[in-house]
Amino acid sequence: MITAQQRDLVQSSRPASVEKAIDVLDRLRGGSVVLTKVETLLNWSRAASLWPLGFGLACCAIEMMAAFAGRFDLDRMGVIPRATPRQADLMIVAGRCTIKMAPITRRLWEQMPEPKYVISMGSCATCGGPFYYDNYSILKGVDQIVPVDVYIPGCPPRPEALIEGILKLQEKIKAGPFLRRVAAEGA
Ligand code: SF4
Repeated sequence: MITAQQRDLVQSSRPASVEKAIDVLDRLRGGSVVLTKVETLLNWSRAASLWPLGFGLACCAIEMMAAFAGRFDLDRMGVIPRATPRQADLMIVAGRCTIKMAPITRRLWEQMPEPKYVISMGSCATCGGPFYYDNYSILKGVDQIVPVDVYIPGCPPRPEALIEGILKLQEKIKAGPFLRRVAAEGA
């Protein structure tokens, strides 16, 4: 807030347009204004409202459900599960993905609108985990079928680890050049 005394001191040397601008700023709450880039604003809002597709593949999903329940309450971070890929922008692959389930997982990911993100939750989703050796039916890493943004280690990871992974994803989204990428792809 600019005080009357400060204004009197510099008023004589200021053009009328500057005076008018200061009047407008004074009328804003706190006498201040926030300047930012459109991309930063979009990334900030996108990071603060991640909507994951509500599906789990195996035991890791129990910990994911615990993260959404009352004690950890992921809703408070704007992470609200959706029942359809059409409304989701985050896929949390929680648990082992069988080779039979792989094309379905890929199709669900394709049905999600851009921009979309993937978290690989647990050792099985990341590399096959305890099923890495001598197993014919488990995919050795879900990044073979969808692009993964964040990997969370553990068997299973605790809800706190999932929250940490979501915080990492939010950092990545905030720093991401989404608009520039869209412009480059459209060019
Ligand atoms: S990482 Fe462990 S807890 Fe998670 S799906 Fe695999 S075996 Fe189950």
